Amino acid sequence: MNVFSDTAFDGHEQVVFASDEATGLKTIIAVHNTNLGPSLGGCRMWPYASEQEAIHDVLRLSRGMTYKSALANLPLGGGKSVIIGDPRSQKTPELFRAMGRAVEQVGGRYIVAEDVGTSPEDMEQIASQTKHVGGINDGSDPARTGDPSPFTAYGVFIGLKEAARFKYGTDDLKDLRVAVQGLGHVGYHLCRMLFAAGAKLIVADLNKNSVMTAVNEFGATAVSVDEILSVDADILAPCALGGVINDRSIEKLRVGIIAGAANNQLEHDRHGDMLREAGVLYAPDYVINAGGVVEVHYCREGKPVSETNKHIEGIAGTVREIFDRAKQQNLSTGFVADRLAEERFGLVRKAA
Ligand code: NAD
Repeated sequence: MNVFSDTAFDGHEQVVFASDEATGLKTIIAVHNTNLGPSLGGCRMWPYASEQEAIHDVLRLSRGMTYKSALANLPLGGGKSVIIGDPRSQKTPELFRAMGRAVEQVGGRYIVAEDVGTSPEDMEQIASQTKHVGGINDGSDPARTGDPSPFTAYGVFIGLKEAARFKYGTDDLKDLRVAVQGLGHVGYHLCRMLFAAGAKLIVADLNKNSVMTAVNEFGATAVSVDEILSVDADILAPCALGGVINDRSIEKLRVGIIAGAANNQLEHDRHGDMLREAGVLYAPDYVINAGGVVEVHYCREGKPVSETNKHIEGIAGTVREIFDRAKQQNLSTGFVADRLAEERFGLVRKAA
């Protein structure tokens, strides 16, 4: 089992392995960097095929949170936790209370929130054991449902408009054609905002009901999941899976901008360079999909949704800075985003 030599280790400050025999809890809590504040990141519950896979996943995700929070201008560092187990069959309130005790032992250097396989109800169990938890709706603001997805969608919408301003000289989306891949929690909210702004929607999802609803509600044009990455449009918004921008899809793209919610849209960093060479403006995913983490922070601080939204609107300035620097230095936007994040959280790399 490798931790320090895992490719995603990248100077993690702390990695905690904790277990509780009575409830079957096996968890790994990773704290990547706390230069800007305590680390915050979701708790993923997943039936990992091996411990190494779980270690790699938690390190990779935790590091990503450092970059995301730094560019979202939050006083937070990056962390993440994983519970090894099947969320469909192995969840119990006792297991999450044991998880709460494990989080408590990290002493506030890690703040847990929900992620794939965990829910607001699970966070409530955790909250009975520790105050270092986010993603719980205290009911103080009726505009807050406990679901971060609408805030994520709002950030994507802000980032997408800024990309349109940079590329097409206007952030008026009226009659711009936006292809949305994935009509889930984030994608559907994004469609609602795009429709309200006058955009023409082209949509695809594996779920035919979501597609039909978008056709009826927004007058969207439905295409198949195989076609959505090659439709002729102004903007592509990937809101389904990671890795969709790859050698195969880049050849077929017929858009000027990529701006969507999905994490890790580029299969490899070099695909960012390929997009630049092809003249496609890419709004880095983790920069524009940070609205959810902003909301988790503001909710924890007891601040109203109006303040969350104001903060999310700051995403426009950050992507603008990334686009400007990338253009001036002839670099990919993804590369520039990473360097800007590192400047903000004060990464010091050892001399080679
Ligand atoms: P979700 O599971 O609610 O929705 C994903 C949708 O994509 C589903 O409707 C699914 O049917 C569809 N889909 C899957 N494969 C597809 C394919 N090949 N073609 C077309 N559609 C396909 O997830 P979500 O919460 O909306 O998140 C979407 C993406 O955004 C994910 O990559 C997620 O990691 C990322 N993200 C979400 C949030 C959030 O607040 N929910 C925050 C940051 C990033």
